[in-house]
Amino acid sequence: MNKNNKIGIIGAGPAGASAAYYLQKEGYDVTVFEKESFIGGRTHAYNDGEIRFDTGASFFTNFYPLLKELVTKLNLDDEVIELERRVGLRYKDVLAEFTFGDLKTFWRLPFITRKDKLIMIWSTIKLTLQRRNLDLVSPEKLAKYDDSSIAEWATNTMSENVYQYLIRPGVEPFWYFSCNDVSRAMTTVLQGRAADAKFYTFKKGMSRISEKLLANVELHMKSTVNQLSKKENKIEISYIKDNIESTIEVDKIIVATPANAFQNISINFKLEKGISDFISTQKYVSNVHATFTVNEEEVKNMFAYYYPCGEWKTPIGAIVLHKQKCKDSIKVPEGKELISVFILDKPSRELIEIDDDEEVFKRIWEMAITFEGKLPKEAKPVALFKRNNAIPLHEVGRYTTANKIKNQQNKDVIFAGDYMSCATVEGALRSGRWAAAQVSGKKISF
Ligand SMILES: Cc1cc2nc3c(=O)[nH]c(=O)nc-3n(C[C@H](O)[C@H](O)[C@H](O)COP(=O)(O)OP(=O)(O)OC[C@H]3O[C@@H](n4cnc5c(N)ncnc54)[C@H](O)[C@@H]3O)c2cc1C
Repeated sequence: MNKNNKIGIIGAGPAGASAAYYLQKEGYDVTVFEKESFIGGRTHAYNDGEIRFDTGASFFTNFYPLLKELVTKLNLDDEVIELERRVGLRYKDVLAEFTFGDLKTFWRLPFITRKDKLIMIWSTIKLTLQRRNLDLVSPEKLAKYDDSSIAEWATNTMSENVYQYLIRPGVEPFWYFSCNDVSRAMTTVLQGRAADAKFYTFKKGMSRISEKLLANVELHMKSTVNQLSKKENKIEISYIKDNIESTIEVDKIIVATPANAFQNISINFKLEKGISDFISTQKYVSNVHATFTVNEEEVKNMFAYYYPCGEWKTPIGAIVLHKQKCKDSIKVPEGKELISVFILDKPSRELIEIDDDEEVFKRIWEMAITFEGKLPKEAKPVALFKRNNAIPLHEVGRYTTANKIKNQQNKDVIFAGDYMSCATVEGALRSGRWAAAQVSGKKISF
């Protein structure tokens, strides 16, 4: 494609930011449209001056290779901080300490038998040895393991206990969906990486990566794209900013919004059937995230994270004590701890229906103290995030389809986003780089 051509990108999350960065580096004229007043999409940080924390994505790992590469390219090395790895795993009244990547705390876990532990170790060793073939976000590599749900696979190849007490707590607290509903492909990779997994964030939050990628790109903020129309060889983008509709003509478009947000954009031309079917059938799970402050003194001996395990009914996905997790990546008043409560998909959908936020805060704190009795009875609400479309649902077969679809991306409208890959910042960044390569004709693997 001619480098004088103009490329419009919809969405300034990690996928759009990555696409813009790679195209700009190749010399293209790039313009990004973002409906919000902030960059980063679901990696956005809450910041009221006194309190700052990540509202969505809050960490990356040592198996996010593109993010790692970009950290160095964008001079972000000094902003990276490693996170606490010690967690509290709770099954009803029993709380156990577990440290990611630590055999001692694994061996001491109370919920499962020695036999289950040996099964888990053996299965993890086998997957660790296959690492070369495992990639958390490449649709091509994930498609090779896209044959059953996590629940089915873990129960059949390991055991019911291993599934309930070790696999589920490594997935559901982070993605909020049920392991019955999603492909085992991603979990296979996670298990193959578990032995030496490390977790990191940026001092000023996860949106730093998108902010840096977009540092020199032309941006239209608070600009909601509502229509795309074909005009001879060009595509006209209509967008609304401050209630005023404007248009701009471009040669190609990269759509880097969540799949269901694309449904709100009207188009006067036909997309390829494979792509449009994939986009329109994409399902998302919900997540409500409520944040509170408490007196630090009252929680000082607690873990940084609390996750449920085993088969019991709890609405809690995760409880995070931010200072314990990493005090240098947040802001909170002296003497206070900041606590986030993340709710699983189904109870989140019920909470989203309630308009009264005070009531939602109250219910969520009650859920939190019922789950974890060490938490103080009183907490001060800070912020509430109700997301209907938090995480794309990785149904069985979805990676296989994504793998086919990605190779059809050679027309005027190219799609990028975590739903083309796996719901992570790395997945979004890689999909953006892939979309950019479809424009420039550069040969890269996803
Ligand atoms: C609660 C939560 C916790 C998470 N935790 C982690 C984590 O710890 N680590 C991790 O790796 N991942 C995590 N994720 C996933 C990660 O945030 C996403 O995979 C990633 O942000 C997806 O990037 P994206 O660019 O595809 O989409 P988004 O980040 O959603 O960006 C899309 C952008 O498009 C914009 N947009 C939408 N419609 C329009 C329109 N019509 N016009 C203009 N702009 C539009 C949106 O405003 C948004 O800025 C988490 C997600 C959630 C919700």
